[in-house]
Amino acid sequence: MSSLPKVLVVEDEVAIQELLRYSLEQAPFAVVVVTSAEQALSEIRSELPSVVLLDLMLPGMSGINLARHLRAQGRTRELPIIMVTARAEEADRIAGLNIGADDYVTKPFSPTELIARIRAVLRRRAPHLASDVVEAGPLRLDPQART
Ligand code: CA
Repeated sequence: MSSLPKVLVVEDEVAIQELLRYSLEQAPFAVVVVTSAEQALSEIRSELPSVVLLDLMLPGMSGINLARHLRAQGRTRELPIIMVTARAEEADRIAGLNIGADDYVTKPFSPTELIARIRAVLRRRAPHLASDVVEAGPLRLDPQART
């Protein structure tokens, strides 16, 4: 089992899937790519990812409906979601933020910026995955140094 944060990419465009897989693996993250919201649900049922990178324009169930579904279930309510939208889809972006997506990027996006946003969301939602030092009173936990 990998100890890298796992990014579930929900994206139907092959060229973008390949760009995302390459950039995210270099980060490094563990990457799983699915091409529909339905496949994403089945993947999430078998194993919770650390974060979902969600294209809003998908064939079949939309990204917005997937995000709404995830937010309505106890097991996935806190699952970090970053939406990927086209610049023109402002209404979708607002809808996504309204139902509790954590962040969004617009296409065409810079992989470096995307990775920075994923790291920021992981730090906010799951501090133990971001490898930050945690201090509580006299205790100092450094996950990288394992001390
Ligand atoms: Ca799409």
